[in-house]
This record gives sequence, C-alpha cells and structure tokens, in this order.
Amino acid sequence: MINFYEEQVDHKPVISEAELSDQQVMQELKEIRAELGEKVVVLGHHYQQDDVVSLADHTGDSLQLAKDAAKLSAEYIIFCGVHFMAETADMLTSKDQKVILPDMNAGCSMADMANRIEIDRCWKNLTDATDEKIIPITYINCSALLKDFVGANEGAICTSSNAKKIITWALDQGEKLLFFPDQHLGRNTCFELGIGLDEMIVYNPNLQDGGVSAEQIKKAKVILWYGYCSVHQGFSAEQVNTVKKNSPDTTVIVHPECNFETVQASDDNGSTAYIIETIKNAPSGSKWAVGTEINLVNRLSQWFPDKEISSLSPYQCLCTTMYRVRPRWLLESFRSIKRGEAINVIKVPEDVKNNSLKALDRMLKIS
Ligand code: SF4
Repeated sequence: MINFYEEQVDHKPVISEAELSDQQVMQELKEIRAELGEKVVVLGHHYQQDDVVSLADHTGDSLQLAKDAAKLSAEYIIFCGVHFMAETADMLTSKDQKVILPDMNAGCSMADMANRIEIDRCWKNLTDATDEKIIPITYINCSALLKDFVGANEGAICTSSNAKKIITWALDQGEKLLFFPDQHLGRNTCFELGIGLDEMIVYNPNLQDGGVSAEQIKKAKVILWYGYCSVHQGFSAEQVNTVKKNSPDTTVIVHPECNFETVQASDDNGSTAYIIETIKNAPSGSKWAVGTEINLVNRLSQWFPDKEISSLSPYQCLCTTMYRVRPRWLLESFRSIKRGEAINVIKVPEDVKNNSLKALDRMLKIS
C-alpha cells in the first residue's frame, strides 16, 4: 500500500538556535501572527508542551479538535499534534483550506501498529471464518487508509470520549466487532458495556492467521487488534496499588488506553476531556494520581493549584512524537505561509477521503 504522505515530506531544516533564540522565535511568532491575522488558526492537542499550547487558538483532545477543525473557515490550519490528527482535520475541512503539520515526523506509535495490508488480510481471515456480520471500528488514532477501510465496510471511527456510544451502535448493527488498533481501549470499553473477557480475542498481525483459529473467531463477539499506546503502557496496576497503600485518600484516574488490570485497579477512567472535567469539578484539597501523558498531568497541576495532582507513574510517561513540535517549528510553518509556499501540508487523496468521511460522519452523528 502506498504511504501517500511520504512524498509530501519537506526536509527543510527548522530554524536553528544559532539563527534565533527562543525569545526571538516567540517575538517573531507574535509579529507574523498579527500580520497574517485570521488567515491562520493554530490547534493544539492537550499532550503538547506548554509553550506550544500557549500559542494555540483552540486546545482539546482528538474529538474536540476534530469538531473544531470542521467549523473553521481559516485558509491555513496549523495542527500541533500528530499525523493522523492533521489528516482528520484535512478531511473535515474544505478543499481550499490547508492543514499543516509543523513536524512531519510527529507520528503515533499506536497508529503505526496497523496498516491497510494487515487489516485487509485480517478482514479476509475473519470473513472466511464466519458468516456473521462484523462491524469494523477504528480508534481515530490510525491512518486515513484505515478510516477508508472502516467507511467502506459499514463501520465507524471512535475516540476515547465516545467509544462506548460507538461500540453500542456497532453491536446493534452486527453480531461481531473488529476493533483496532488499540486493544486496551477496545477491551476496557467492551468490558464496561457488559461483554465478558471470554467473549474477546486478540488478533496479532505478527502471527500466522493472527494467532487465532476459525473456531475462536466464530465464538468471539469482539476481535481486538494487537496494538497499544507506548505511553499509556507505562502505567500499571502495581503503581495503582502503591498509591493506594501510601496515600489511601488519593483518587486514581487513568486513561482507557491503559491496560485492563490498571483500569480495573483504578478508581475511575476516561478520556483526557473526562479526566480534566472530573478533576476540575473535584473538591478543593482533593488528591489525584493521574495515569495519562505527563504534559497534561503537569498542566492539570497548574490549572488546579488547590488540588494535589501527580502522575501515577514515577517515570515520565511522555509522548515523544507529540513532544517533537516546538515554537520554532510553528514559526517555520508561519514563515512558509507568509512566503506563499506553505510546507508540510497534509492532503488526503479524494478517493481515500470519501469512505473515511462516511466513517467520520457516522462518529460525529452518534457522539
Ligand atoms: S499518547 Fe500514545 S496514542 Fe497518543 S499520540 Fe502519543 S503514542 Fe499515539
């Protein structure tokens, strides 16, 4: 399968520190933004670093930013996030608008754990094994080619904010569910919806026939893809138990990309938007151990200084690809717009866009 965006990578060097100091970068950004005005809008994901978030016109999780992108009329949208988010924004905006990813190397390790060849092969194995209707659901953290697959096969996209609604919808449409690429979000959500662990199997694309027999496929209600987030993989049930032992009045809240044992041991779980709202509405003086990306955890402590907030993990659970985007990358994007030759523009081909949009529309209608 052609990785269509590879051809669009612009390898121009970013503005070096020898050329401009951090302060000069911020100053030039201020000037160039004033000059370009409403022509450019900056979107920033919650996992971005503070200096980047401070430059964003809109911040949010992937669902919120997708909704924001769909409403924007700016000619240029600079998306401070990772590649699949910029692709989604491109699909939700008009042909005349351009979505820019400041660093084309900002990918997502989870999204890279499933590609179209593997998904097509899996689909054939599943549909050869059973006549029951299978609805494919993809987490939004995947390439446009997988969103295209889902749209073409009567499925939908989900985020961690709306996974319950989308999975409930999918199980009304068919007898079985194929959920990719994040096994943990799939397992945690299906379990909350009352589906037993013995009704779920894991399809591992690295094994012959996914490591599952036709008999297992026939019996299963949910087929989970063997994918995960390397950041949320850093949290464990042991860490939850340590917090509970050392500080019994601390509430542990984690993201559903954490593994099943961690989510089960925790007091609460939900999307980044849910985590923010829950802590925001908690009583002053309450204590929280949070299992999600460290930039967001640190920002929660700044936003809510009346609460005691720390990371669940003693290690820095940092999304290194989100971390790649820096203000000087943004400046490079702004300069290219000013020159009239925007770089790192993400364009999803029309033939991929059509079915992907069907799946995205289904998600936006259901959520
Ligand atoms: S936090 Fe995990 S899922 Fe999110 S972009 Fe980073 S690697 Fe991907």
